[in-house]
Amino acid sequence: RLYNEIQELKGNIRVYCRIRPFLPGQNKKQTTIEYMGENGELVVANPTKHGKDSHRLFKFNKVFGPTASQEEVFLDTQPLIRSVLDGFSVCIFAYGQTGSGKTYTMSGPTASSREDWGVNYRALNDLFQIAQSRRTTVVYEVAVQMVEIYNEQVRDLLSSGGPQKRYPSHMVSLDMFFLDLHTLGIWNTAQPNGLAVPDASMHPVKSTSDVLELMSIGLTNRAVGATALNERSSRSHSVLTVHVRGTDLETDAVLRGSLHLVDLAGSERVDRSEARGDRLKEAQHINKSLSALGDVIFALAQKSSHVPYRNSKLTQVLQSSLGGQAKTLMFVQLNPDVDSYSETVSTLKFAERVS
Ligand code: ADP
Ligand code: MG
Repeated sequence: RLYNEIQELKGNIRVYCRIRPFLPGQNKKQTTIEYMGENGELVVANPTKHGKDSHRLFKFNKVFGPTASQEEVFLDTQPLIRSVLDGFSVCIFAYGQTGSGKTYTMSGPTASSREDWGVNYRALNDLFQIAQSRRTTVVYEVAVQMVEIYNEQVRDLLSSGGPQKRYPSHMVSLDMFFLDLHTLGIWNTAQPNGLAVPDASMHPVKSTSDVLELMSIGLTNRAVGATALNERSSRSHSVLTVHVRGTDLETDAVLRGSLHLVDLAGSERVDRSEARGDRLKEAQHINKSLSALGDVIFALAQKSSHVPYRNSKLTQVLQSSLGGQAKTLMFVQLNPDVDSYSETVSTLKFAERVS
């Protein structure tokens, strides 16, 4: 009960921490994770210090340890997904250094079986199931967009070919998008204007298998043009946007909800003395957009009158699902090993600031 109260005080931002297990070959004895409490407490230990000062306590809405299953994690995420069908905008993102399990949490391991599905497949699956089981007078329509943000440029991962465009910086409101579709009477693909993510193609989906198919296309496109897939995916943000429109056939009332599922670029600091050229530029863009995201969430948590959405492409794309009536969930991903200690602490500090 106390937690619900805290949640209300904090507004619509919740923060979950997830610690991935050691991978084969990692030395299991060397961990920075000292304690994980049932009420969201996390104690990390500095491997180079001893005594009282070597430990730090952090608090989350929830901590998932290395043995937590994908299903367990989703159970605590599900209520947010359901509120999308009630007309809320929801944003779920994973933050952490490369290798900390962001993609695992959001999508699952590569070539995953149903059991390994991450939040995004489960979320879509859930949306379809609930939509079907709800009142039969309400018809739900679902459409998705998938983009990658790399060096402050938005790239459509589901476009049907052609040269990749640069996108204008102006944003078209979600309302306008639905208005357009409503006037046109269709859920189209590839309309040039009026989309929530400007110019990114919109794809109607009717089932989880439609989504799986689209996402595999998106992932393939993500690899195109990248010198090395893993490298690129850790340096760009991927955003899957789900739009839901429910129409009550009896009253004609229309309800709209949206969901952004975001796999962020790796948050690791890049050594300025080592990074040069493209790598340095990438690092600066990532740094800029992650701090812009932190600033936006911080402003929202403080209920500040000015929320600085315009400072990065990432916050512009996510604007409709951050703030206002929107609900936000951040997964703070940690790698348990001692070598990651400094990244772990900087990740935890980011989380502490926004929660
Ligand atoms: P990131 O996207 O943050 O770079 P990944 O999701 O690719 O990290 O995870 C790094 C590695 O750890 C992958 O091999 C992934 O399968 C594995 N992994 C991450 N989280 C878990 C988990 N909770 N359980 C099992 N394996 C995990
Ligand atoms: Mg990843």
